[in-house]
Amino acid sequence: MGLDAASVRFQRAGVSLAAVFFILSNCHAAASDTSHPVEDQPPRVLILYPYDERIAATTAAGEALRSRLLEATGGKIDLFSEFLDLSRFPEADHVARMGRYLAEKYAARRPDVVVALGKESASFISTNRASIAPDAKIVAAGFGNSTAEKIDLPDDVIGAFTTFDILKTAEMARKLQPNARHLYIIGGSSEFDRAWLATARADLEEFSRSYETTYLEDLTIEEFIERASDVPAESIILALTIFKDRAGRNFSPREAIRQIAATASAPVYGPYQTYIDYGVVGGNTVTFDNLGRSLGNLVADVIAGRPVSDIQAPQTNIVDARQLRRWGLAEGNLPPGTIQMYEEKTFWEEHWLASTGALGVVLLQAGVIAALLLERRRRQDAEGRSRLHLLEAVHLNQSATAGALSSSIAHELNQPLSAIRNNAEAASQLLRTEIPDLQLIQHILQDIQEDDQRAGDIIGRMRGLLKKRSEIDWQEFDLNDVTSSAIRIIHGEAERRGITLKATESTIKLPVRADKVHVQQVVLNLATNAMDAMNDAGSRRRILTFATGLASEKAALCVADTGNGIPEERLSSIFEPFFTTKQAGTGLGLSIARAIVETYGGKISACNRPEGGAIFRVVLPLARQEEEGG
Ligand code: ADP
Repeated sequence: MGLDAASVRFQRAGVSLAAVFFILSNCHAAASDTSHPVEDQPPRVLILYPYDERIAATTAAGEALRSRLLEATGGKIDLFSEFLDLSRFPEADHVARMGRYLAEKYAARRPDVVVALGKESASFISTNRASIAPDAKIVAAGFGNSTAEKIDLPDDVIGAFTTFDILKTAEMARKLQPNARHLYIIGGSSEFDRAWLATARADLEEFSRSYETTYLEDLTIEEFIERASDVPAESIILALTIFKDRAGRNFSPREAIRQIAATASAPVYGPYQTYIDYGVVGGNTVTFDNLGRSLGNLVADVIAGRPVSDIQAPQTNIVDARQLRRWGLAEGNLPPGTIQMYEEKTFWEEHWLASTGALGVVLLQAGVIAALLLERRRRQDAEGRSRLHLLEAVHLNQSATAGALSSSIAHELNQPLSAIRNNAEAASQLLRTEIPDLQLIQHILQDIQEDDQRAGDIIGRMRGLLKKRSEIDWQEFDLNDVTSSAIRIIHGEAERRGITLKATESTIKLPVRADKVHVQQVVLNLATNAMDAMNDAGSRRRILTFATGLASEKAALCVADTGNGIPEERLSSIFEPFFTTKQAGTGLGLSIARAIVETYGGKISACNRPEGGAIFRVVLPLARQEEEGG
């Protein structure tokens, strides 16, 4: 932007007021014919940018100005922007062409205020205001008072001027380098450079007393570079301007400063934003954003008809973060409110809050997931362990049942074996006769075969009863079949005990999905308990009844006895492990039965019959239901 590096504090000199008034009064009369102010017409503000839209500095100031104006007027404003492109087209032809073009363009919409950003825009509108915006107030910004004087700005132009204060820049340097002992001030040989050096001498008089101070002046660019590269490490270098060196060579000051700062052995400071990015640590200057906002306030006052006068755009400390790092200067020593340019914050620095939050959420999630996985694993382990315990308990239970039934089983087995022996003896006697009755022998052999089959079945059931499981053997079977097979196992024992077995089998199939041996063990446990209960009941008729059927869409089995029943107060405890009222009891039969039934999604319950005796009821889900459901 046209923040002119050559601007220092300067008194505005008088300009040709008479000429300005002459132009103003004449043009006003002419303009009022074509552009009559309309009642309630929002004010028109034309912003003139000196260069093209790519120049970040002017664009930044212009944007800040626009948003401040929109805010101040509640959006009731007509804003126009024109990019004069004067750095690429500095020719007088272009300037004149732009003048004519804008005069015509705004013929029907004359601006009420023209904001000229940079000295080029200010010069342009000063020359062309009569044709472009004859009634408009002109507000100029982005350069110093001295430049205003140089370009002969009309006296009614209001300025948002910038002052470059070397003392504030020096104070910032002192804060950043508290241990510095040397102070160097660099200035060129042009008239302006010399005037600047004189101003700095006066402004830094007090400040420089704390340092061994050297003014580097009247030097060629090579000498500047060499001297700056040779200063002691504990030095502060303040760069003013070098428009010309001692050899009379012309420079753009920031280019000259760039060469010096590149090899300087101590940090270089300067009071211009334009020096940032040219190797300078920083300085106290006006920022484009601040300038735009101050300008916005000024223009808002002009629109509102409030009295206005020139203002000084507020100054800010501004530093290049890369230079802070280059010289190892602590960020913490920066004056409050300092703007850091090129601050390449690490991802963590820039997004620490979001990152911390995100990290927290991720960690929390990870924690929850881990806890859930652990819990699932624990549950699976626990389920695995409890299944294993159940299988072991069932097996022990089976062995105990087998043990309890062994005498009746042996007795039962004895029958076919005796029959086989008797039949075999009979057959051998028949064979010893002269004319053996072969047909009879054939019958006998058939009986032997049948008895052998019976014995085989008994042994098979016994083996099945003792089968040890390491895994549940899931299969679908009819609850009626398992009940029948359990009845076959105990019928010998029941007979021995004088118990009558009755079975009311369901007419329909009751398919369930479970381990057959486990469900059979449930029936055996209930039957054994029932037989025990009837033992204690004395002489009453001993009847053990098995009934299967459908109950609420479930397979149900009831085992009823004619014993003494279960006292009401024990009904809730009989399924607890180790609850027993028997002398040689373990108290495990019913708890194992319940564990098995619940493993397969069923329920077991007990109650007393009104006529005496207990009924145990087992319900299991029908396998068909699951299939239909799927
Ligand atoms: P145990 O048979 O080793 O005692 P159970 O768990 O099979 O262990 O039975 C627990 C208790 O429940 C028995 O001791 C008995 O008091 C009671 N019980 C079980 N079945 C019956 C029944 N049919 N009639 C009366 N009491 C019963």
